[in-house]
Amino acid sequence: MVELQGIPVSPGVAIGPALVLDSDGFRIPRTIVAAEEAADEYVRLRDAVDAVSKRLEAHRLETSAVAGEDTGDIFAAQLQMLHDPRLHVELGRRIRHEQHSAGYAVNQVLHHYAAALRRLDNPLLADRAEDVLDIEKQLLLELGAMTRRPLSDLTEPVVVLSHNLTPSETANLDRRYVRGFCTETGGPGGHTAIVAKGLELPAIVGIGAFLDIVNEGDRVIVDGDRGRVIINPDEQMLESYQQRIQLRKSLSARLAELRDLPAETADGVRILLSANIEFPHETAVCLQRGADGIGLYRTEFLYLSSEEEPSEEDHYEAYSQVVREMGGRPVVIRTLDLGADKMGHRPLAEQEHNPFLGLRSIRLSLRNLDLFRPQLRAVLRAAVHGDVRVMFPLITTMAELRQARMLLNVVADDLNNEGIPFRSDIPVGMMVEVPAAVVMLEHFVREVDFLSIGTNDLAQYTLAVDRSNEYVADLYQSSDPAVLRLIRQCVEVADKFEIPLAVCGEMSSNPGRALLLLGLGVRNLSVPPLALPQVKKAIRSVSIDQCREIACRVMKLEAARDVDMYLLDRLGDIVPELILK
Ligand code: PEP
Ligand code: MG
Repeated sequence: MVELQGIPVSPGVAIGPALVLDSDGFRIPRTIVAAEEAADEYVRLRDAVDAVSKRLEAHRLETSAVAGEDTGDIFAAQLQMLHDPRLHVELGRRIRHEQHSAGYAVNQVLHHYAAALRRLDNPLLADRAEDVLDIEKQLLLELGAMTRRPLSDLTEPVVVLSHNLTPSETANLDRRYVRGFCTETGGPGGHTAIVAKGLELPAIVGIGAFLDIVNEGDRVIVDGDRGRVIINPDEQMLESYQQRIQLRKSLSARLAELRDLPAETADGVRILLSANIEFPHETAVCLQRGADGIGLYRTEFLYLSSEEEPSEEDHYEAYSQVVREMGGRPVVIRTLDLGADKMGHRPLAEQEHNPFLGLRSIRLSLRNLDLFRPQLRAVLRAAVHGDVRVMFPLITTMAELRQARMLLNVVADDLNNEGIPFRSDIPVGMMVEVPAAVVMLEHFVREVDFLSIGTNDLAQYTLAVDRSNEYVADLYQSSDPAVLRLIRQCVEVADKFEIPLAVCGEMSSNPGRALLLLGLGVRNLSVPPLALPQVKKAIRSVSIDQCREIACRVMKLEAARDVDMYLLDRLGDIVPELILK
Protein backbone atom coordinates (compact mmCIF):
# COMPACT_ATOMS: atom_id res chain seq x y z
CA MET A 1 0.00 0.00 0.00
CA VAL A 2 1.32 3.45 -0.92
CA GLU A 3 -0.27 6.70 0.20
CA LEU A 4 0.29 10.00 -1.61
CA GLN A 5 -0.91 13.53 -1.00
CA GLY A 6 -2.09 15.99 -3.64
CA ILE A 7 -4.47 18.93 -3.99
CA PRO A 8 -8.13 17.91 -3.62
CA VAL A 9 -10.13 19.68 -6.35
CA SER A 10 -13.35 17.75 -6.67
CA PRO A 11 -14.96 16.02 -3.67
CA GLY A 12 -16.03 12.41 -3.24
CA VAL A 13 -14.35 9.05 -3.13
CA ALA A 14 -13.59 6.82 -6.11
CA ILE A 15 -12.23 3.29 -6.00
CA GLY A 16 -11.16 1.37 -9.08
CA PRO A 17 -8.39 -0.11 -11.17
CA ALA A 18 -5.75 2.31 -12.46
CA LEU A 19 -5.54 3.39 -16.07
CA VAL A 20 -2.13 5.02 -16.38
CA LEU A 21 -1.31 7.68 -18.97
CA ASP A 22 2.28 8.85 -19.19
CA SER A 23 3.41 12.41 -19.88
CA ASP A 24 2.89 11.93 -23.62
CA GLY A 25 -0.60 10.62 -23.04
CA PHE A 26 0.31 7.02 -23.84
CA ARG A 27 -1.47 4.16 -22.18
CA ILE A 28 -0.30 0.58 -21.74
CA PRO A 29 -3.28 -1.76 -21.84
CA ARG A 30 -3.48 -4.62 -19.39
CA THR A 31 -3.80 -7.68 -21.62
CA ILE A 32 -3.97 -11.36 -20.79
CA VAL A 33 -3.61 -13.71 -23.77
CA ALA A 34 -4.98 -17.21 -24.36
CA ALA A 35 -2.69 -20.05 -23.19
CA GLU A 36 -2.01 -21.17 -26.76
CA GLU A 37 -0.85 -17.64 -27.70
CA ALA A 38 1.82 -17.41 -25.01
CA ALA A 39 4.54 -18.93 -27.20
CA ASP A 40 3.84 -16.41 -29.97
CA GLU A 41 3.94 -13.59 -27.45
CA TYR A 42 7.34 -14.73 -26.33
CA VAL A 43 8.59 -14.71 -29.95
CA ARG A 44 7.23 -11.16 -30.33
CA LEU A 45 9.12 -10.13 -27.25
CA ARG A 46 12.39 -11.64 -28.60
CA ASP A 47 11.92 -9.81 -31.90
CA ALA A 48 11.28 -6.53 -30.09
CA VAL A 49 14.37 -7.01 -27.91
CA ASP A 50 16.44 -7.68 -31.05
CA ALA A 51 15.13 -4.58 -32.80
CA VAL A 52 15.69 -2.31 -29.79
CA SER A 53 19.10 -3.87 -29.26
CA LYS A 54 20.13 -3.08 -32.84
CA ARG A 55 18.94 0.48 -32.46
CA LEU A 56 20.80 1.00 -29.21
CA GLU A 57 23.98 -0.41 -30.75
CA ALA A 58 23.65 1.98 -33.70
CA HIS A 59 23.13 4.90 -31.29
CA ARG A 60 26.18 3.78 -29.32
CA LEU A 61 28.40 3.76 -32.39
CA GLU A 62 27.10 7.07 -33.73
CA THR A 63 27.34 8.86 -30.37
CA SER A 64 30.80 7.48 -29.65
CA ALA A 65 32.03 8.75 -33.04
CA VAL A 66 30.55 12.23 -32.55
CA ALA A 67 30.85 12.81 -28.81
CA GLY A 68 33.41 10.28 -27.62
CA GLU A 69 33.18 6.84 -26.09
CA ASP A 70 32.18 8.04 -22.63
CA THR A 71 28.96 9.49 -24.03
CA GLY A 72 28.41 6.41 -26.21
CA ASP A 73 28.62 4.33 -23.04
CA ILE A 74 25.18 5.58 -22.00
CA PHE A 75 23.80 3.29 -24.66
CA ALA A 76 26.19 0.52 -23.71
CA ALA A 77 24.68 0.61 -20.22
CA GLN A 78 21.16 0.44 -21.64
CA LEU A 79 22.19 -2.51 -23.81
CA GLN A 80 23.53 -4.29 -20.77
CA MET A 81 20.22 -3.78 -18.95
CA LEU A 82 18.26 -4.94 -21.95
CA HIS A 83 20.17 -8.23 -21.95
CA ASP A 84 20.16 -8.77 -18.20
CA PRO A 85 19.37 -12.52 -17.82
CA ARG A 86 17.24 -11.95 -14.67
CA LEU A 87 15.04 -9.61 -16.64
CA HIS A 88 14.47 -12.23 -19.29
CA VAL A 89 13.70 -14.95 -16.77
CA GLU A 90 11.01 -12.74 -15.22
CA LEU A 91 9.59 -11.65 -18.57
CA GLY A 92 9.45 -15.29 -19.71
CA ARG A 93 7.68 -16.32 -16.51
CA ARG A 94 5.04 -13.61 -16.85
CA ILE A 95 4.29 -14.48 -20.47
CA ARG A 96 4.36 -18.29 -20.14
CA HIS A 97 2.84 -18.77 -16.71
CA GLU A 98 0.68 -15.70 -16.18
CA GLN A 99 -0.28 -15.32 -19.84
CA HIS A 100 0.59 -11.64 -19.91
CA SER A 101 0.85 -10.12 -23.36
CA ALA A 102 4.45 -9.19 -24.21
CA GLY A 103 3.59 -5.50 -23.73
CA TYR A 104 1.93 -5.99 -20.40
CA ALA A 105 4.84 -8.14 -19.15
CA VAL A 106 7.38 -5.51 -20.23
CA ASN A 107 5.41 -2.77 -18.53
CA GLN A 108 5.03 -4.68 -15.26
CA VAL A 109 8.56 -6.00 -14.98
CA LEU A 110 10.44 -2.88 -16.03
CA HIS A 111 8.23 -0.62 -13.93
CA HIS A 112 8.93 -2.73 -10.84
CA TYR A 113 12.61 -2.69 -11.69
CA ALA A 114 12.67 1.11 -12.04
CA ALA A 115 10.69 1.58 -8.82
CA ALA A 116 13.13 -0.69 -6.93
CA LEU A 117 16.07 1.42 -8.17
CA ARG A 118 14.31 4.62 -7.08
CA ARG A 119 13.61 3.25 -3.63
CA LEU A 120 17.34 2.81 -3.02
CA ASP A 121 17.53 6.58 -2.56
CA ASN A 122 20.78 6.87 -4.45
CA PRO A 123 20.89 9.60 -7.11
CA LEU A 124 23.05 7.50 -9.43
CA LEU A 125 20.66 4.57 -9.29
CA ALA A 126 17.69 6.89 -9.69
CA ASP A 127 19.24 7.95 -13.02
CA ARG A 128 19.47 4.29 -13.97
CA ALA A 129 15.73 4.05 -13.30
CA GLU A 130 15.19 6.61 -16.07
CA ASP A 131 17.19 4.35 -18.40
CA VAL A 132 15.01 1.38 -17.46
CA LEU A 133 11.86 3.38 -18.26
CA ASP A 134 13.38 4.49 -21.53
CA ILE A 135 14.00 0.87 -22.51
CA GLU A 136 10.45 0.03 -21.47
CA LYS A 137 9.08 2.71 -23.75
CA GLN A 138 11.20 1.58 -26.68
CA LEU A 139 10.12 -2.04 -26.26
CA LEU A 140 6.47 -1.04 -25.94
CA LEU A 141 6.61 1.10 -29.06
CA GLU A 142 8.27 -1.77 -30.90
CA LEU A 143 5.53 -4.13 -29.71
CA GLY A 144 2.84 -1.67 -30.74
CA ALA A 145 1.63 -1.91 -27.14
CA MET A 146 1.40 1.80 -26.46
CA THR A 147 -1.67 3.57 -27.63
CA ARG A 148 -2.32 7.27 -27.58
CA ARG A 149 -5.34 9.06 -26.10
CA PRO A 150 -7.36 5.90 -25.77
CA LEU A 151 -9.90 7.22 -23.34
CA SER A 152 -12.77 6.87 -25.75
CA ASP A 153 -12.62 3.07 -25.98
CA LEU A 154 -13.12 2.16 -22.34
CA THR A 155 -15.28 -0.82 -21.54
CA GLU A 156 -14.91 -1.11 -17.78
CA PRO A 157 -14.64 1.24 -14.81
CA VAL A 158 -11.25 2.89 -14.22
CA VAL A 159 -9.52 5.56 -12.21
CA VAL A 160 -7.41 7.68 -14.56
CA LEU A 161 -3.88 8.45 -13.35
CA SER A 162 -2.18 10.88 -15.67
CA HIS A 163 0.75 13.25 -15.85
CA ASN A 164 -1.63 16.00 -16.87
CA LEU A 165 -5.17 16.46 -18.18
CA THR A 166 -6.23 19.57 -20.04
CA PRO A 167 -9.71 20.99 -19.42
CA SER A 168 -10.86 19.65 -22.80
CA GLU A 169 -9.42 16.18 -22.17
CA THR A 170 -11.22 16.22 -18.84
CA ALA A 171 -14.44 17.36 -20.49
CA ASN A 172 -14.22 14.41 -22.85
CA LEU A 173 -13.71 11.73 -20.19
CA ASP A 174 -16.29 8.99 -20.53
CA ARG A 175 -18.45 9.34 -17.42
CA ARG A 176 -19.81 5.83 -17.85
CA TYR A 177 -16.43 4.33 -16.97
CA VAL A 178 -14.15 6.96 -15.45
CA ARG A 179 -14.75 7.05 -11.69
CA GLY A 180 -12.18 9.68 -10.76
CA PHE A 181 -8.75 10.96 -11.68
CA CYS A 182 -5.38 12.05 -10.31
CA THR A 183 -2.70 14.08 -12.04
CA GLU A 184 0.92 14.81 -11.31
CA THR A 185 0.57 18.48 -12.31
CA GLY A 186 -2.15 21.12 -11.96
CA GLY A 187 -3.33 23.61 -9.38
CA PRO A 188 -6.45 24.14 -7.29
CA GLY A 189 -8.17 26.75 -9.45
CA GLY A 190 -7.40 25.45 -12.95
CA HIS A 191 -10.26 24.73 -15.33
CA THR A 192 -9.43 21.02 -15.19
CA ALA A 193 -10.47 21.18 -11.55
CA ILE A 194 -13.64 23.07 -12.44
CA VAL A 195 -14.61 20.54 -15.12
CA ALA A 196 -14.00 17.69 -12.67
CA LYS A 197 -16.53 19.26 -10.31
CA GLY A 198 -18.95 19.79 -13.20
CA LEU A 199 -18.68 16.09 -14.07
CA GLU A 200 -18.86 15.20 -10.37
CA LEU A 201 -15.69 13.13 -10.61
CA PRO A 202 -13.58 12.89 -7.45
CA ALA A 203 -10.23 14.39 -8.45
CA ILE A 204 -6.81 15.24 -7.10
CA VAL A 205 -4.17 17.27 -8.95
CA GLY A 206 -0.59 18.42 -8.32
CA ILE A 207 0.57 15.16 -6.73
CA GLY A 208 4.07 15.41 -8.19
CA ALA A 209 5.83 12.52 -9.99
CA PHE A 210 4.21 9.23 -8.98
CA LEU A 211 3.27 7.36 -12.14
CA ASP A 212 6.42 5.23 -12.00
CA ILE A 213 5.22 3.49 -8.91
CA VAL A 214 1.78 2.51 -10.25
CA ASN A 215 0.94 -0.29 -12.59
CA GLU A 216 -1.98 -0.50 -14.91
CA GLY A 217 -4.75 -2.32 -13.07
CA ASP A 218 -3.53 -1.56 -9.53
CA ARG A 219 -6.43 -0.80 -7.23
CA VAL A 220 -6.57 2.90 -6.36
CA ILE A 221 -8.61 4.98 -3.92
CA VAL A 222 -9.08 8.66 -4.81
CA ASP A 223 -10.10 10.64 -1.75
CA GLY A 224 -11.18 13.89 -3.37
CA ASP A 225 -12.24 15.33 0.00
CA ARG A 226 -8.78 15.23 1.53
CA GLY A 227 -6.45 14.91 -1.46
CA ARG A 228 -5.23 11.41 -0.58
CA VAL A 229 -4.41 8.79 -3.19
CA ILE A 230 -3.96 5.24 -1.96
CA ILE A 231 -2.44 2.67 -4.25
CA ASN A 232 -3.13 -0.99 -3.50
CA PRO A 233 -4.93 -0.28 -0.20
CA ASP A 234 -4.99 -2.98 2.48
CA GLU A 235 -8.32 -4.47 3.56
CA GLN A 236 -8.71 -2.16 6.54
CA MET A 237 -8.19 0.96 4.45
CA LEU A 238 -10.56 -0.31 1.80
CA GLU A 239 -13.24 -0.99 4.35
CA SER A 240 -12.92 2.45 5.94
CA TYR A 241 -13.35 4.07 2.52
CA GLN A 242 -16.34 1.91 1.71
CA GLN A 243 -17.91 3.17 4.92
CA ARG A 244 -17.09 6.73 3.90
CA ILE A 245 -18.85 6.21 0.58
CA GLN A 246 -21.94 5.05 2.50
CA LEU A 247 -21.75 8.09 4.80
CA ARG A 248 -21.59 10.41 1.79
CA LYS A 249 -24.56 8.65 0.22
CA SER A 250 -26.72 9.04 3.29
CA LEU A 251 -25.74 12.71 3.63
CA SER A 252 -26.74 13.36 -0.01
CA ALA A 253 -30.03 11.54 0.52
CA ARG A 254 -30.80 13.79 3.51
CA LEU A 255 -29.78 16.95 1.64
CA ALA A 256 -31.87 15.93 -1.38
CA GLU A 257 -34.96 16.55 0.79
CA LEU A 258 -34.20 20.29 0.66
CA ARG A 259 -34.74 20.40 -3.10
CA ASP A 260 -38.08 22.19 -3.08
CA LEU A 261 -37.37 24.42 -0.09
CA PRO A 262 -36.12 27.95 -0.75
CA ALA A 263 -32.53 29.02 -0.08
CA GLU A 264 -33.66 31.18 2.81
CA THR A 265 -31.80 31.98 6.00
CA ALA A 266 -33.27 31.02 9.38
CA ASP A 267 -34.43 34.66 9.78
CA GLY A 268 -36.20 34.68 6.42
CA VAL A 269 -33.77 36.39 4.03
CA ARG A 270 -34.10 34.87 0.58
CA ILE A 271 -30.79 34.12 -1.10
CA LEU A 272 -30.68 33.49 -4.84
CA LEU A 273 -28.84 30.21 -5.22
CA SER A 274 -28.01 29.44 -8.84
CA ALA A 275 -25.75 26.96 -10.58
CA ASN A 276 -22.61 27.16 -12.72
CA ILE A 277 -22.65 24.90 -15.76
CA GLU A 278 -20.29 24.01 -18.59
CA PHE A 279 -22.64 21.78 -20.65
CA PRO A 280 -26.34 22.00 -21.55
CA HIS A 281 -27.06 18.52 -20.18
CA GLU A 282 -26.24 19.78 -16.68
CA THR A 283 -29.53 21.67 -16.48
CA ALA A 284 -31.28 18.42 -15.53
CA VAL A 285 -29.23 18.01 -12.39
CA CYS A 286 -29.53 21.73 -11.58
CA LEU A 287 -33.32 21.42 -11.60
CA GLN A 288 -33.18 18.18 -9.68
CA ARG A 289 -31.25 19.99 -6.95
CA GLY A 290 -33.54 23.01 -6.91
CA ALA A 291 -31.31 25.71 -8.50
CA ASP A 292 -32.94 29.15 -8.78
CA GLY A 293 -31.33 29.63 -12.19
CA ILE A 294 -28.05 29.36 -14.06
CA GLY A 295 -25.71 31.99 -12.64
CA LEU A 296 -22.80 31.17 -14.95
CA TYR A 297 -22.91 29.25 -18.20
CA ARG A 298 -19.29 28.76 -19.34
CA THR A 299 -19.97 28.69 -23.06
CA GLU A 300 -16.38 28.06 -24.15
CA PHE A 301 -16.86 24.39 -23.33
CA LEU A 302 -18.84 24.12 -26.53
CA TYR A 303 -15.46 24.59 -28.21
CA LEU A 304 -13.53 22.34 -25.89
CA SER A 305 -15.84 19.37 -26.22
CA SER A 306 -16.38 19.27 -29.98
CA GLU A 307 -14.15 18.24 -32.86
CA GLU A 308 -15.02 21.22 -35.03
CA GLU A 309 -15.43 24.88 -34.38
CA PRO A 310 -19.08 25.47 -33.40
CA SER A 311 -21.26 27.48 -35.80
CA GLU A 312 -23.84 30.12 -34.84
CA GLU A 313 -26.47 27.36 -35.06
CA ASP A 314 -24.50 25.15 -32.65
CA HIS A 315 -24.34 28.03 -30.16
CA TYR A 316 -28.04 28.77 -30.65
CA GLU A 317 -29.06 25.13 -30.18
CA ALA A 318 -27.02 24.76 -26.99
CA TYR A 319 -28.25 28.02 -25.43
CA SER A 320 -31.86 27.42 -26.43
CA GLN A 321 -31.78 23.98 -24.83
CA VAL A 322 -30.54 25.44 -21.54
CA VAL A 323 -32.98 28.36 -21.58
CA ARG A 324 -35.98 26.19 -22.43
CA GLU A 325 -35.14 23.57 -19.86
CA MET A 326 -34.70 26.19 -17.14
CA GLY A 327 -38.31 27.20 -17.84
CA GLY A 328 -38.32 30.94 -17.16
CA ARG A 329 -35.59 30.88 -14.52
CA PRO A 330 -32.72 33.31 -15.21
CA VAL A 331 -29.84 32.01 -17.33
CA VAL A 332 -26.62 34.06 -17.33
CA ILE A 333 -24.72 33.24 -20.51
CA ARG A 334 -21.08 34.20 -20.19
CA THR A 335 -19.43 34.97 -23.50
CA LEU A 336 -16.36 33.01 -24.55
CA ASP A 337 -13.55 32.78 -22.04
CA LEU A 338 -11.07 31.04 -24.29
CA GLY A 339 -7.29 31.29 -24.01
CA ALA A 340 -4.82 30.52 -21.20
CA ASP A 341 -5.67 26.93 -20.16
CA LYS A 342 -8.71 26.68 -22.49
CA MET A 343 -7.68 26.59 -26.12
CA GLY A 344 -10.07 26.49 -29.07
CA HIS A 345 -9.67 24.83 -32.46
CA ARG A 346 -7.40 27.22 -34.28
CA PRO A 347 -4.29 28.86 -32.91
CA LEU A 348 -5.63 32.24 -31.81
CA ALA A 349 -2.30 33.60 -30.64
CA GLU A 350 1.36 32.79 -30.89
CA GLN A 351 2.70 30.74 -27.99
CA GLU A 352 2.50 33.17 -25.08
CA HIS A 353 4.95 33.40 -22.19
CA ASN A 354 2.26 34.36 -19.68
CA PRO A 355 -1.01 33.12 -21.15
CA PHE A 356 -3.10 34.06 -18.10
CA LEU A 357 -1.88 37.64 -18.61
CA GLY A 358 -2.18 37.41 -22.35
CA LEU A 359 -4.75 37.22 -25.10
CA ARG A 360 -7.47 35.54 -23.10
CA SER A 361 -11.19 35.86 -22.59
CA ILE A 362 -12.85 39.15 -23.67
CA ARG A 363 -9.53 40.36 -25.10
CA LEU A 364 -9.39 37.38 -27.40
CA SER A 365 -13.08 37.69 -28.36
CA LEU A 366 -12.71 41.37 -29.23
CA ARG A 367 -9.74 40.57 -31.49
CA ASN A 368 -11.53 37.69 -33.22
CA LEU A 369 -14.87 39.07 -34.24
CA ASP A 370 -15.58 36.14 -36.55
CA LEU A 371 -15.62 34.07 -33.37
CA PHE A 372 -17.44 36.56 -31.19
CA ARG A 373 -20.22 37.74 -33.50
CA PRO A 374 -21.85 34.33 -34.08
CA GLN A 375 -21.91 33.79 -30.34
CA LEU A 376 -23.55 37.15 -29.61
CA ARG A 377 -26.11 36.57 -32.36
CA ALA A 378 -26.91 33.16 -30.86
CA VAL A 379 -27.34 34.67 -27.38
CA LEU A 380 -29.83 37.28 -28.60
CA ARG A 381 -31.71 34.66 -30.62
CA ALA A 382 -31.91 32.23 -27.69
CA ALA A 383 -33.23 35.07 -25.52
CA VAL A 384 -36.68 34.74 -27.13
CA HIS A 385 -37.08 31.42 -25.27
CA GLY A 386 -36.75 32.71 -21.70
CA ASP A 387 -34.93 34.91 -19.20
CA VAL A 388 -31.48 35.32 -20.76
CA ARG A 389 -28.77 37.63 -19.46
CA VAL A 390 -25.42 38.10 -21.10
CA MET A 391 -22.17 38.58 -19.19
CA PHE A 392 -18.69 39.56 -20.36
CA PRO A 393 -15.68 37.94 -18.66
CA LEU A 394 -12.37 39.47 -17.54
CA ILE A 395 -13.43 43.08 -18.13
CA THR A 396 -10.47 45.24 -17.12
CA THR A 397 -11.05 48.55 -18.87
CA MET A 398 -14.07 50.67 -19.72
CA ALA A 399 -13.04 50.49 -23.38
CA GLU A 400 -13.45 46.70 -23.39
CA LEU A 401 -16.90 46.92 -21.85
CA ARG A 402 -17.98 49.59 -24.32
CA GLN A 403 -16.63 47.70 -27.32
CA ALA A 404 -18.40 44.53 -26.24
CA ARG A 405 -21.67 46.38 -25.71
CA MET A 406 -21.32 48.12 -29.03
CA LEU A 407 -20.82 44.82 -30.81
CA LEU A 408 -23.94 43.49 -29.12
CA ASN A 409 -25.89 46.45 -30.57
CA VAL A 410 -24.38 45.88 -34.01
CA VAL A 411 -25.39 42.21 -34.11
CA ALA A 412 -28.88 43.15 -32.86
CA ASP A 413 -29.19 45.56 -35.82
CA ASP A 414 -27.99 42.84 -38.18
CA LEU A 415 -30.55 40.35 -36.85
CA ASN A 416 -33.23 42.98 -37.18
CA ASN A 417 -32.28 43.71 -40.78
CA GLU A 418 -32.23 40.01 -41.55
CA GLY A 419 -35.68 39.51 -40.02
CA ILE A 420 -34.44 36.84 -37.60
CA PRO A 421 -36.35 36.60 -34.27
CA PHE A 422 -34.31 37.87 -31.31
CA ARG A 423 -34.51 39.98 -28.15
CA SER A 424 -32.16 42.87 -27.53
CA ASP A 425 -33.56 44.19 -24.23
CA ILE A 426 -31.69 41.64 -22.16
CA PRO A 427 -29.67 42.57 -19.05
CA VAL A 428 -25.95 42.98 -19.74
CA GLY A 429 -23.47 42.26 -16.98
CA MET A 430 -19.77 41.93 -16.38
CA MET A 431 -17.61 39.65 -14.35
CA VAL A 432 -15.47 41.29 -11.72
CA GLU A 433 -12.34 39.19 -11.69
CA VAL A 434 -9.48 41.65 -12.05
CA PRO A 435 -8.49 44.05 -9.25
CA ALA A 436 -8.56 46.93 -11.76
CA ALA A 437 -12.28 46.33 -12.24
CA VAL A 438 -12.87 46.53 -8.48
CA VAL A 439 -10.91 49.76 -8.24
CA MET A 440 -12.92 51.29 -11.09
CA LEU A 441 -16.25 49.72 -10.18
CA GLU A 442 -18.03 53.03 -9.58
CA HIS A 443 -17.55 53.73 -13.28
CA PHE A 444 -18.42 50.26 -14.55
CA VAL A 445 -21.70 50.08 -12.64
CA ARG A 446 -23.06 53.03 -14.62
CA GLU A 447 -22.86 50.94 -17.78
CA VAL A 448 -23.94 47.45 -16.73
CA ASP A 449 -27.13 45.90 -15.36
CA PHE A 450 -25.48 43.42 -13.01
CA LEU A 451 -22.15 42.24 -11.63
CA SER A 452 -20.80 38.80 -10.87
CA ILE A 453 -17.57 38.33 -8.93
CA GLY A 454 -15.33 35.61 -10.35
CA THR A 455 -13.30 34.80 -7.27
CA ASN A 456 -11.21 32.20 -9.11
CA ASP A 457 -9.57 34.83 -11.25
CA LEU A 458 -9.89 37.62 -8.71
CA ALA A 459 -7.75 35.55 -6.32
CA GLN A 460 -5.28 34.69 -9.10
CA TYR A 461 -4.78 38.31 -10.17
CA THR A 462 -4.88 39.83 -6.70
CA LEU A 463 -2.38 37.43 -5.18
CA ALA A 464 -0.22 37.06 -8.32
CA VAL A 465 -0.66 33.27 -8.14
CA ASP A 466 -1.26 31.10 -11.21
CA ARG A 467 -4.46 29.24 -10.38
CA SER A 468 -3.35 26.08 -12.19
CA ASN A 469 0.18 25.82 -10.82
CA GLU A 470 0.78 23.20 -8.15
CA TYR A 471 3.96 24.88 -6.89
CA VAL A 472 2.10 27.89 -5.57
CA ALA A 473 -1.14 26.12 -4.68
CA ASP A 474 -0.80 26.99 -1.00
CA LEU A 475 -0.82 30.70 -1.89
CA TYR A 476 -3.94 30.45 -4.03
CA GLN A 477 -6.73 31.21 -1.52
CA SER A 478 -9.94 33.08 -2.24
CA SER A 479 -10.24 33.51 1.53
CA ASP A 480 -7.09 35.63 1.60
CA PRO A 481 -7.86 38.88 3.50
CA ALA A 482 -6.79 40.92 0.46
CA VAL A 483 -9.39 39.17 -1.72
CA LEU A 484 -12.02 39.55 0.99
CA ARG A 485 -11.43 43.29 1.14
CA LEU A 486 -11.94 43.54 -2.62
CA ILE A 487 -15.19 41.59 -2.35
CA ARG A 488 -16.40 43.88 0.43
CA GLN A 489 -15.55 46.88 -1.72
CA CYS A 490 -17.64 45.45 -4.59
CA VAL A 491 -20.63 44.89 -2.30
CA GLU A 492 -20.42 48.50 -1.07
CA VAL A 493 -20.42 49.87 -4.62
CA ALA A 494 -23.19 47.54 -5.76
CA ASP A 495 -25.35 48.55 -2.76
CA LYS A 496 -24.68 52.24 -3.31
CA PHE A 497 -25.73 52.02 -6.96
CA GLU A 498 -28.46 49.47 -6.26
CA ILE A 499 -27.20 47.04 -8.80
CA PRO A 500 -27.48 43.24 -8.41
CA LEU A 501 -24.25 41.50 -7.47
CA ALA A 502 -23.53 37.76 -7.45
CA VAL A 503 -20.50 35.66 -6.58
CA CYS A 504 -19.99 32.83 -9.07
CA GLY A 505 -16.39 31.79 -8.32
CA GLU A 506 -15.72 28.48 -6.59
CA MET A 507 -15.47 30.31 -3.28
CA SER A 508 -19.25 30.32 -2.93
CA SER A 509 -19.41 26.53 -3.19
CA ASN A 510 -17.60 26.10 0.10
CA PRO A 511 -20.37 26.28 2.76
CA GLY A 512 -18.19 28.10 5.31
CA ARG A 513 -17.02 30.66 2.78
CA ALA A 514 -20.61 31.02 1.52
CA LEU A 515 -21.71 32.07 5.04
CA LEU A 516 -18.88 34.59 5.08
CA LEU A 517 -20.09 36.01 1.75
CA LEU A 518 -23.60 36.41 3.18
CA GLY A 519 -22.06 38.24 6.12
CA LEU A 520 -20.26 40.56 3.71
CA GLY A 521 -23.62 41.43 2.15
CA VAL A 522 -23.77 39.10 -0.88
CA ARG A 523 -27.32 37.81 -1.54
CA ASN A 524 -26.79 35.94 -4.80
CA LEU A 525 -24.52 32.90 -5.08
CA SER A 526 -23.81 30.65 -8.02
CA VAL A 527 -22.15 27.31 -7.36
CA PRO A 528 -21.36 24.06 -9.21
CA PRO A 529 -24.48 21.82 -9.22
CA LEU A 530 -22.64 19.39 -6.96
CA ALA A 531 -22.50 22.00 -4.20
CA LEU A 532 -26.14 23.20 -4.36
CA PRO A 533 -27.54 20.95 -1.60
CA GLN A 534 -24.85 21.64 0.97
CA VAL A 535 -24.75 25.38 0.36
CA LYS A 536 -28.55 25.49 0.63
CA LYS A 537 -28.35 23.54 3.87
CA ALA A 538 -25.79 26.00 5.28
CA ILE A 539 -27.92 29.00 4.26
CA ARG A 540 -31.05 27.54 5.85
CA SER A 541 -29.20 26.82 9.09
CA VAL A 542 -27.99 30.33 9.80
CA SER A 543 -29.31 33.84 10.43
CA ILE A 544 -27.96 36.94 8.70
CA ASP A 545 -26.90 38.28 12.10
CA GLN A 546 -24.77 35.19 12.63
CA CYS A 547 -23.24 35.66 9.17
CA ARG A 548 -22.49 39.31 9.91
CA GLU A 549 -20.81 38.33 13.14
CA ILE A 550 -18.72 35.76 11.23
CA ALA A 551 -17.71 38.38 8.64
CA CYS A 552 -16.88 40.91 11.35
CA ARG A 553 -14.58 38.45 13.04
CA VAL A 554 -12.99 37.27 9.77
CA MET A 555 -12.20 40.79 8.61
CA LYS A 556 -9.91 41.15 11.63
CA LEU A 557 -7.80 38.14 10.60
CA GLU A 558 -4.57 38.46 8.65
CA ALA A 559 -4.12 35.12 6.87
CA ALA A 560 -6.24 32.85 4.67
CA ARG A 561 -5.34 29.90 6.86
CA ASP A 562 -6.77 31.59 9.95
CA VAL A 563 -9.88 32.55 8.02
CA ASP A 564 -10.49 28.99 6.85
CA MET A 565 -9.81 27.48 10.24
CA TYR A 566 -12.26 29.88 11.86
CA LEU A 567 -14.89 29.23 9.15
CA LEU A 568 -14.56 25.48 9.53
CA ASP A 569 -14.98 25.84 13.24
CA ARG A 570 -18.10 27.97 12.90
CA LEU A 571 -19.56 25.68 10.28
CA GLY A 572 -18.98 22.78 12.66
CA ASP A 573 -21.08 24.61 15.31
CA ILE A 574 -23.83 25.72 12.93
CA VAL A 575 -24.24 22.67 10.64
CA PRO A 576 -22.13 19.84 12.06
CA GLU A 577 -23.60 17.30 9.63
CA LEU A 578 -21.82 18.99 6.71
CA ILE A 579 -18.43 18.20 8.21
CA LEU A 580 -17.41 14.72 7.08
CA LYS A 581 -14.57 13.51 9.27
C1 PEP B 1 -13.87 32.95 -11.96
O1 PEP B 1 -12.83 33.36 -12.43
O2 PEP B 1 -14.13 32.97 -10.73
C2 PEP B 1 -14.90 32.35 -12.83
C3 PEP B 1 -16.09 32.02 -12.35
O3 PEP B 1 -14.57 32.12 -14.12
P1 PEP B 1 -13.64 30.91 -14.59
O4 PEP B 1 -13.41 30.01 -13.40
O5 PEP B 1 -14.33 30.20 -15.69
O6 PEP B 1 -12.39 31.61 -15.02
MG1 MG C 1 -12.70 33.67 -14.58
